[in-house]
Amino acid sequence: MVSIDGAAGEGGGQVLRSALALSALTGQTTDFQNIRAGRATPGLQPQHLTAVYAAAAVCGAQTTGVELNSPALHFAPTHPARPGDYVFDVSSITGKGSAGSVGLVMQTVLLPLAAAPGDSHLLLRGGTHVPWAPSMHYLQSVFLPTLASMGVAADIELTQWGFYPAGGGAVRVSVQGQSQPRAITLTERGALKRIWGVGVVSNLPAHIPQRMVNRARNLLNEAGLKTDLEPLRVRGDGPGAGIFLVAEYEGARAGFTAYGKQGLPADQVAQAACDALLAHHHTGAPVDPYLADQLILPMAVAQGTSHIVTSRITNHLLTNVATVQSFLPVVARIDGALGRPGTVTLTGYTYD
Ligand code: ATP
Repeated sequence: MVSIDGAAGEGGGQVLRSALALSALTGQTTDFQNIRAGRATPGLQPQHLTAVYAAAAVCGAQTTGVELNSPALHFAPTHPARPGDYVFDVSSITGKGSAGSVGLVMQTVLLPLAAAPGDSHLLLRGGTHVPWAPSMHYLQSVFLPTLASMGVAADIELTQWGFYPAGGGAVRVSVQGQSQPRAITLTERGALKRIWGVGVVSNLPAHIPQRMVNRARNLLNEAGLKTDLEPLRVRGDGPGAGIFLVAEYEGARAGFTAYGKQGLPADQVAQAACDALLAHHHTGAPVDPYLADQLILPMAVAQGTSHIVTSRITNHLLTNVATVQSFLPVVARIDGALGRPGTVTLTGYTYD
C-alpha cells in the first residue's frame, strides 16, 4: 500500500491526480491524507472529486472518503483499467455547477486508459478554459502532440466552451488503448516556425478578442517573431475571455495562456500571455514549464530514459517527481535550480 501526504511539496490537486493515475496503472492501493493541504480551500473540490470518480470507474476501485472537502481518501483498485465509454461531469458535483477543469480530469485517466486493452471514449463536462489548469487549446496543441511522439494517441474535441467561472463546457476525448509510452528526448527545439493562436471571448463584445490579438501581434512582432493570430467569439454559459498562444519550433511546441476578468483591460491579458511566451523563448529551452511537470508521469511509465530541457523548474515538477517515486522505483535527476531553466533525466519503469 502507498501512503500519500497531500501536504508534501506543492500541496495541491496534482499530487492527488498523479497518485490516482499511478494507483490505477499499477494496481497499488493508496491512502491519501492532508489532501490539498497547501490550498486555501483544502480537501476534495469538484474537479478533484470528479478525478477520483473517474479513476475509480476505470479500475473498479473501492473507495472511502469520497465526498466534497474530504481531506482523506482510501483508493483500492480491483482490476486493471478497462476500456469503455465514460461520462464524467464536474459541473454536477455540487448541484450548483462548477467550472472545475475537465482537462485535469482527463489527464488523471489518460495513461491508465492508454494502457487498457482497447480504445476508450470520454465525454467530460465542466470547465474547459480555467485559470491554473491546462486549457483545451493547450492540451490539443501542446500536451497531446508531445504525448503522441511518445506513442500515446488521444484526441480531444471541444464541443462546448466552458470558461471559468460559469463552466458548462463539454469535450469528447478518444484514447487509443494498448499503448506503451516510449521515452522522449526534448533537449533541442530548432528554429521558431511561427506563433499561432486565438483571442477568444464568450458572451462578450467582438472588440475584446480583436484588441487582445492586436496587442499580442504588436508585442511579438516588436520582438521579431512572426504571428498568425485570430480573434474569435463563441457562446457559452457565461462571460469569459482568454488568449492562447502556441510557439511552434521545428522540434517542439510550447503554449501560453492568459485569461481576462472584470476590470482587467484586454491589452493586459494579451501582455501576460506574451510575457510568458517571450520569457520561455529567450531561454532557448524546448519544454515550457507546464509541459515539463505534465510529462513526468508519462516519462515515469515509459520504456527507457527520457531527457527534457525546460525553461523553468517548478515546484509542480519537483512534486510530481516525488509522487511517481512513491509508486515506482524511477530514477530521476534534475539539473538546475527552482525557478530557473533546467534538465530532467528520468528512467521509466514498466510495471507489468
Ligand atoms: P489546486 O489544488 O491548486 O486547486 P489544481 O487541482 O488545479 O489545483 P495543481 O496541483 O495546481 O492543480 O496542478 C495544476 C496543473 O495544471 C499542473 O499540471 C500545471 O502544469 C497545469 N497548468 C496550470 N496552468 C497552466 C497553463 N497556463 N497552461 C498549461 N498547463 C497549466
